[in-house]
Amino acid sequence: MSMINTLKTNVQLHLKNLLGWKTNRKILVLAVDDYGNVRVDSKEARERMDQAGLEVPLRFDAYDAMENREDLEILYETLDSVKGKNGEHAKVTAFSVPCNIDYDRMVEEDYQEYRYELLPQTFKKLADRDDKAYSGTWDLWKKGMDEGYLMPQFHGREHISLKVLNEKLAKRDPEILTVLKNRSYTSISSTGYATIDWSAAFDFWKLEETLNFGPIIEDGLNAFEKVFGFRSVYFNAPGQPEHSSLHQHLHRNGIKYLDTPFIKNEHLGEGQFRKEINYIGKKNKLGMIYNIRNVLFEPCEDRGFDWVNYTLKQIEVAFRMKHPAVISSHRVNYCGHISVENRKKGLSDLKRLLKEVKKRWPDIEFMNSVELMDLVSQK
Ligand SMILES: [Zn+2]
Repeated sequence: MSMINTLKTNVQLHLKNLLGWKTNRKILVLAVDDYGNVRVDSKEARERMDQAGLEVPLRFDAYDAMENREDLEILYETLDSVKGKNGEHAKVTAFSVPCNIDYDRMVEEDYQEYRYELLPQTFKKLADRDDKAYSGTWDLWKKGMDEGYLMPQFHGREHISLKVLNEKLAKRDPEILTVLKNRSYTSISSTGYATIDWSAAFDFWKLEETLNFGPIIEDGLNAFEKVFGFRSVYFNAPGQPEHSSLHQHLHRNGIKYLDTPFIKNEHLGEGQFRKEINYIGKKNKLGMIYNIRNVLFEPCEDRGFDWVNYTLKQIEVAFRMKHPAVISSHRVNYCGHISVENRKKGLSDLKRLLKEVKKRWPDIEFMNSVELMDLVSQK
């Protein structure tokens, strides 16, 4: 990084931590998106999609497969490799989807319309097809919840723009049929809308499309309870920051806390945007409380620097400004189903980060996102 860039980054890091709830405690939260989501089915599926000419624009399109047994086993070991002030191990808040595409039903119906299934069903099918990688994974998920390694929270019902999927199904789009036949949902080249990402469930072009999202949120939060055994209280949008009209539906269905960017670029419809500054502890009109992820950790994204050092620097700024360190990350960094090397890099960097954190701040406290926000809401 050049000197000017370094300075710019430094100013941005401090700005993110200027406003909001303060504490002298050294609290560290790991907020990791995309658990439970099927993006790329397997190495073989990826190869078949490559042969069909589908592109791999992002590392997510290459490596983001459903977490398998080893992914979880090694993740738990990594989180257990360090202990906080009160003897607690590190914890991941897993922003998760409870539903995935029911590929079997869709093929039976000749791809007429979108059908979904619940997560345990997805794991059962994966284990039936690939016993070696997936048998026992759902049991391990539940063990991770019981022992506090994983705390799932709501990341949408599914991680898909249904508007885009439905429009492409109606046209029998060859690219969509190829990915669905490969039990994947990835590498979609264009949605046809400047404001819609194919993976962002709550993206829209016209504002009136947001009216479709209320029933999906309600159904998704009920599905979450069915899958994980408790109601979610925390939401992080699958994709772009959500339009604020979604908050009433989230609130009515039990959501109290929201992760949101420091500077939220809110889409108002047809390509118009509005900027909003947010901070930890800020409340919306419904009394829901915002949290800001003030630290970034994406160890498998090659940016030409050492992620552990960069992340430690961000944590240091957060603590100096009396904020908790809320680390934002994605499951893709800890996925080994398609490339074991990918997981090795992600989890060894995470281990190195946690060790170094403990060394620099021996009174570190590991919390999940809900524990942190319960504390914030007490003030
Ligand atoms: Zn996501």
